[in-house]
Amino acid sequence: MKILVINSGSSSIKFQLLDMEEERVLASGLVERIGEASGLLATKFNPDTEQQQVVKLEQQIADHRQGMLAAIALLTDADQGIIKDASEIGAIGHRVVHGGEDFHQPTVISKEVLEAITANIPLAPLHNPANLDGITVAMDLFPAVPQVAVFDTAFHQSMPPHAYMYALPHAYYTEDRVRRYGFHGTSHKFVATETAKMLGKPLGECNLITIHLGNGCSMTAVENGVSVDTSLGMTPLEGLVMGTRSGDVDPAIHTFLHRNKGMSLDDIDEVLNKESGLKGLCGMNDMRDIHDAIAQGDERAKLALEVQTYRNKKYIGAYMAVLGRVDGLVFTAGIGENDPDVRALSLKGLEAFGVKIDARLNDQRVKEPLQISSADSTIPVLVIPTNEELAIARETLAIVQG
Ligand code: AMP
Repeated sequence: MKILVINSGSSSIKFQLLDMEEERVLASGLVERIGEASGLLATKFNPDTEQQQVVKLEQQIADHRQGMLAAIALLTDADQGIIKDASEIGAIGHRVVHGGEDFHQPTVISKEVLEAITANIPLAPLHNPANLDGITVAMDLFPAVPQVAVFDTAFHQSMPPHAYMYALPHAYYTEDRVRRYGFHGTSHKFVATETAKMLGKPLGECNLITIHLGNGCSMTAVENGVSVDTSLGMTPLEGLVMGTRSGDVDPAIHTFLHRNKGMSLDDIDEVLNKESGLKGLCGMNDMRDIHDAIAQGDERAKLALEVQTYRNKKYIGAYMAVLGRVDGLVFTAGIGENDPDVRALSLKGLEAFGVKIDARLNDQRVKEPLQISSADSTIPVLVIPTNEELAIARETLAIVQG
């Protein structure tokens, strides 16, 4: 079956067409600058093969509907296209950021599901409306094709109350749904599943710490295959130090900034999400630039690396305590897969807890699943490239095949 995966943002649509017989990517593309004077549609056909072909089109894309139509027109183009017509698409999988407490797993989209995603807009005011745009257009264009919502939050719905409750007045939870939800769930579940395969154990018997370090960063404690704690909270701001997001801060800093600098709540929200993290600490949010700057003697870049990796280590220690027994530590995403220094610094000092990496194995950008721990490490350390599109396609296939 061919599955189209859609990740719809406020002004963009990311899409991938996969042939699930061989789990092969047929085409992968991005519609950008929707609603602006000039939009861009870029598609790679057969991206993982020698026949790769890239097509870029600049044209005005008024809205998500036009964007989706342009993408489908390219996929089915008589000369360049990869499928004869859209009826070859067996199912569509949509990434949805916030499922609140309503969704514990991927779900076929119905009227009730659309209503529930809409009801969760207050929890993800930027993401859920954009996700809904993509879903409604796809449902309208392909009414006969099953459409599945795969939620970023669903994997973490197994967290127990003692992990998801904030120590705030209880009514904030019962009336306003203020609690920890966690995100990146599709990625954490995917790498946990792949790690179990590598360890040769059923996922349901694995205790793992999955460490997703990209532009957004999060860590999850996986007990017997399910998430029991994760570092992102009610919003994707809590926890680890990210590219531009602060992660954990003393909540009283909000009041301090307001009183002492006259900043509004919106200003503070903007700073914590877009001007903090690595960028706040050293002015750069791409780890590659940070390494270049460190090589030039930039002390603030060095500090940014230290603050991020120290926070990683603190969370690893916390999740070791949560799990008691750890069968594997796994790094993934842009930094986790590509940055040996971040991996080594995040684990430095954990040797006494049975975590030892092999410096030679660690010293590479990892493209395929790889164990990087040394032979005498009691806890295996792995790097597993994440693949959220494939994960969404697999979840979608499993749902439509019952
Ligand atoms: P992601 O959000 O998973 O796409 O990760 C994006 C981030 O990965 C970038 O902002 C970089 O900080 C980081 N990254 C990508 N490639 C490398 C690399 N070769 N070395 C270190 N960090 C990298």
